[in-house]
Amino acid sequence: MKAVVKYERGKGLVEVREVPKPIPKDDEVLIEVKAVSVCGSDLHIYHDRHPYWPPVTLGHEFSGVIAEMGKEVKGWKVGDRIVSETRTGSCGICYTCQSGFPQVCEHKRAYGIGRNGAFTKYVAGPARLLHRLPDPVAFETGAVMEPTAVCISALLERVNLRAGESVLVAGPGPIGLISLALAKASGARMVGITGRSSAEGVRFKKAIELGADFIINIDKEDPVKKVLEMTNGQGVDVLVETSGGEKAIAQSFEMVRRLGRVCALGVSGMPQVSIPYDRGIFKGIRYDFCFSSSWTSWETAIGLVAKGILPIEKLITHTFPLDQWKEGFDLLENRQAAKVILIP
Ligand SMILES: [Zn+2]
Ligand SMILES: [Zn+2]
Repeated sequence: MKAVVKYERGKGLVEVREVPKPIPKDDEVLIEVKAVSVCGSDLHIYHDRHPYWPPVTLGHEFSGVIAEMGKEVKGWKVGDRIVSETRTGSCGICYTCQSGFPQVCEHKRAYGIGRNGAFTKYVAGPARLLHRLPDPVAFETGAVMEPTAVCISALLERVNLRAGESVLVAGPGPIGLISLALAKASGARMVGITGRSSAEGVRFKKAIELGADFIINIDKEDPVKKVLEMTNGQGVDVLVETSGGEKAIAQSFEMVRRLGRVCALGVSGMPQVSIPYDRGIFKGIRYDFCFSSSWTSWETAIGLVAKGILPIEKLITHTFPLDQWKEGFDLLENRQAAKVILIP
């Protein structure tokens, strides 16, 4: 079968290759991939700016149906519609795993990163990571469930976003746009989003479609001044930092209110970032570093999406056959897409 493979360390070095169809182990299932979404991490791996273990088939945001089952698998049957968590390799016995957070286990080797992923026709993996995809949810939408679960883990489970709060999302990429939609669905009284002029084409339009109350083009106006204006000089209750930009990270300390919370989701790609540390102390800011997704966040994500409360399908701007993966990567790179779906 054909697969999009990162075959060696270095910049680029991704191509379509012929790979063997995987054979599921006793506790695994074989999944026929129906849709897979391109993630910012895939671009980072392409550019050699993210951990990965080559050669590896890319793709960790996917949906599909069960094609075969290992003999120990219970509770599922061939043909079931599913989505899967990505935390393959988590050990189950370390402190982090045992305390209920296997998605942060140091032994994790996620699909498409440390284990063959879903930019192909079939992927094999542990049945314990599956979640049922309800019939009304399209496979393409199912492929966006992983980043949605990441946002739910961060905003709802970690930062405890509450109805009535004001929120600023820094960065209009997929995680920023899903965070915006989630904040609106959670009853935030005001949600703004920041981005550069490159977002004017597609991403700001999506932000408006998802209910943004205001948009700040940081190439044209000072985001700190604008946010303070919008909040009577106080700053927002919750700031969702998805940009990973050093300046934006420093500005988050100014744009969040005293005792406000910052939800950090954006990877900076740098070994170190300079922050106004004392400013954070004197304002009593809570800065939560958020990573990956919990089992419960997947159940919440699927429930909200199936009920139409969280319209993540609106994020999908492009769908291509798998062969055109490079076109999808380029559109994302140039900020001309929100979510790109590939069909194997
Ligand atoms: Zn992802
Ligand atoms: Zn562990």
